[in-house]
Amino acid sequence: MLVSLIIPCYNEEGSLPILYEALCAVRTSESTEERHFEFIFINDGSRDKTSSIIKELSEKDPDVKYVFFSRNFGKEAAMYAGMQKAKGDYVAILDADMQDPPSLIPDMIKVLDSGEYDIVAARRVTRKGEPKIRSFFARRFYKLINRMCDVEIADGARDFRLMKREVVDAILSLSERQRFSKGIFAWVGFRTKWVEHENVERVAGETKWSFWKLFKYAIDGIVAFTTAPLRLATFSGFGFACAGFIYLIYYFIRAIILRIYNEVPGYPSLLCFILFIGGLILMCLGILGEYIGRTYIESKGRPIYIPSDESKD
Ligand code: UDP
Ligand code: MG
Repeated sequence: MLVSLIIPCYNEEGSLPILYEALCAVRTSESTEERHFEFIFINDGSRDKTSSIIKELSEKDPDVKYVFFSRNFGKEAAMYAGMQKAKGDYVAILDADMQDPPSLIPDMIKVLDSGEYDIVAARRVTRKGEPKIRSFFARRFYKLINRMCDVEIADGARDFRLMKREVVDAILSLSERQRFSKGIFAWVGFRTKWVEHENVERVAGETKWSFWKLFKYAIDGIVAFTTAPLRLATFSGFGFACAGFIYLIYYFIRAIILRIYNEVPGYPSLLCFILFIGGLILMCLGILGEYIGRTYIESKGRPIYIPSDESKD
């Protein structure tokens, strides 16, 4: 029985040696006659020494395998590549920066061994050490997406998880290009056990997520998993049409019964109305654009990542 550990790495020269130590400790304590480990490092177009560190590790350790990308394709693509390469019966994905504590893996393996669950996923119960404003928007995002989507996406859920083979195959069968794994994990279902841990700060280097990148990721997530925003146009259009109709009747009655025909005042309210509706129309067009744009990108059918020729089997 093989356990594959997938590690997406983007400029992680500082963290990799520490992570590798921790992975070796897990391997030493958990390896048995039947249980073996493989470590799959995905080098997502790093510009520092990450690639040479990975190559060095693979030379002295036959359990280390890797895929190198021809440029930075993002963590989503890296996780996909890792899952494609993984041959294990159990497959785990963990960050290179030790924010997904490898020390949890032995317990996760035990849970899957018990046969009651197909996935063990980690979840942060605190967001300690994270900028306040980031936590605030993250919380709002999870509220919003869960209200709009059919699948439940847990707040604080990380990509850190150990999965059985069936789950990995199910995830790989979703071949969409614009991947939002938190949604995909929830969408494929299966019996999931959550293990909770405190937020851990990264051991070295810096986070690759700026606020703006996270914001775009949030929009990706919503657009990928629900078409509810499109309904906004329908509902608000209907609302405004009704309001317009009532307004019309009101003026009609005034003209017939009260004999008030023309009134110059009302210019400001008219302007406000036009601006408001104009804004709303633009917003709805923008939402439409988000979906159409994504359909366009998806329709090109480009691969999710391109391996560089340094990659080996
Ligand atoms: N990562 C990646 N490609 C990217 C950005 C990040 O493979 O374009 C990897 C990164 O090396 C790390 C994991 O994804 O192992 C999580 O990244 P990070 O720690 O920057 O995210 P955070 O923990 O702050 O959400
Ligand atoms: Mg991190």
